Amino acid sequence: MSEPLFAPDSTHAEVRCWQCGHEVTVKPNGLPAGISGAEFERRARCQKCGTGWPHVKVFPVTRSKWGM
Ligand SMILES: [Zn+2]
Repeated sequence: MSEPLFAPDSTHAEVRCWQCGHEVTVKPNGLPAGISGAEFERRARCQKCGTGWPHVKVFPVTRSKWGM
């Protein structure tokens, strides 16, 4: 049900605010171990405007996680 945000081979994720466009990079070691993608999105808040539910893109993009 809740897939981990980071796969074992993930290096980082780009997190972008859909509201103001503020973008940050997060690394697996900067987050609670094994945090799920859904949990991260639920907790994340834009540091600039405070908007939640950012767009998250995990790198490297080696497999289909977001329907592409
Ligand atoms: Zn924002």
